[in-house]
Amino acid sequence: MANLKERIDAVRKEFDEAARRAADAKSLEELRTAYLGRKRGHVTLLFEDLKSVPAEEKREAGRLVNELKQSVTVRLDAIEGQLSSVPPAVSAAGTDLTLPGRKRYVGRPHPLTLFEEEIERIFLGMGFSIEEGPEIETDYYNFEALNFPPHHPARDKWDTLFIKGDLLLRTHTSPVQVRVMERSKPPIRIICPGRVFRRETPDPTHLPMFMQVEGLVIDEGVTFAHLKGTLEYFLRALFGEKIKVRFRPSFFPFTEPSAEVDIECLVCSGKDPACRVCGGTGWKEILGSGMVDPQVLKNVNIDPEKYSGWAFGLGIDRTAMFAYGIPEMRYFYENDLRFLRQFGTK
Ligand SMILES: [Zn+2]
Repeated sequence: MANLKERIDAVRKEFDEAARRAADAKSLEELRTAYLGRKRGHVTLLFEDLKSVPAEEKREAGRLVNELKQSVTVRLDAIEGQLSSVPPAVSAAGTDLTLPGRKRYVGRPHPLTLFEEEIERIFLGMGFSIEEGPEIETDYYNFEALNFPPHHPARDKWDTLFIKGDLLLRTHTSPVQVRVMERSKPPIRIICPGRVFRRETPDPTHLPMFMQVEGLVIDEGVTFAHLKGTLEYFLRALFGEKIKVRFRPSFFPFTEPSAEVDIECLVCSGKDPACRVCGGTGWKEILGSGMVDPQVLKNVNIDPEKYSGWAFGLGIDRTAMFAYGIPEMRYFYENDLRFLRQFGTK
């Protein structure tokens, strides 16, 4: 019995020292196994020794060993509690875990891309396909083929950035229409979205570079009724079933007759005479359209006696500004994440 008592004291002393050194979860676990392990734990082995203690001393010896086991367990649990409640400020690798983390943001599409995709989705649903073309064009594709002969006064409306000689930055995506008409036979049903360039001084509603989407339909028996029906359907799909739409006579060199299309002002619904968006008229111009001029069809070897067609063009930036209530076109190109993050979360 005296022998066993000494051994209990020795184990307790060793444990106390080892417990002081346990500084992390791993050493704590090793300590637990060393003392309470099922087969070779120091405390567990003391229970084995109880078998050889004389019967009259067994009770007292059992009490002492149990007491030791109890205090070892309590101490181990206390250390465990301490380790989990206070994370070390500096990890073993020297990393300061108390520093705030770096937040990583998941990218998302640009608002103009989202708006363009929405427009594309509506036209794809009506059987249109999407066409693209070069941003650097020749005078022929940008103007002449579209019925703007050299020195035609209508060219003044398209302030053009010329590069060299015959080359220019396209002022609209109409050259894509010409290229498609040249290489394919009717029926044609396309939209052409893309960047266009004009010599503009930047202000809240003008930029030297912006986005446009144009559409073209050529087939036998195509009339102004098709133009009207398709554009009305498109604008209702984009702005809601109840939106009011009106067509106004206009002029473009490449269409005859031509019409500009207005929708009711989303900001004031015509109720505010001082509205900055519609100027108090209650209407906002959204796009230009018209029946393709027979001369344009002749230029690309399509017989205007057999085929007719209609076209439209719309500024993606300006329409997106109107749809989202954005006061400055420049916001789209400043890459300010506070602005960009407001879009594309749906
Ligand atoms: Zn208004």
